[in-house]
Parts: sequence; C-alpha cells; structure tokens
Amino acid sequence: MTITAEMIPQTDPLKISDRCDQCGAQAFVRVIFRRNQDLLFCGHHYGRHESALTARHPYVAVYDERRRINHKPSLSANAD
Ligand SMILES: [Zn+2]
Repeated sequence: MTITAEMIPQTDPLKISDRCDQCGAQAFVRVIFRRNQDLLFCGHHYGRHESALTARHPYVAVYDERRRINHKPSLSANAD
C-alpha cells in the first residue's frame, strides 16, 4: 500500500512549545498513529527510534521537520 497525500492527516507545524515526549527538548518530529494519537520527538530521539517505529507501525504519518534544526538560533542562544 502506498501512502498518498490525501491519506495523511493535516496537522499544524510544530511550535517551540511542542516538546519531545522522551526528554522534553524541542520537538522536530510528530508521529501520528490511528485515532489521532501522536508522539513528539526531538531529532535525537526520533533518530534513535525511527527504524523500530516504522517497522512496527508502517502506516503512521510522520511529520519530519528536522531540516529546521539550527536554521534559526533560538532566543536563548543569543542571550547574554
Ligand atoms: Zn528527545
């Protein structure tokens, strides 16, 4: 079965207030299971669990925004 764009639920872009369910860092990946249950991951933890997640749950929708990591420094990075 091929996943098409129409099959992927719409979701808002991840915000700075969305935090990794594992460590509390800023989330850059949202994984949506059936019934709109979702998990949020930072880049580190998604990378660590990606192969197990996609092997066990091949039809989850994954919103991967890791390309945004370090594109724009956080406010705290510029704090004195
Ligand atoms: Zn994490």
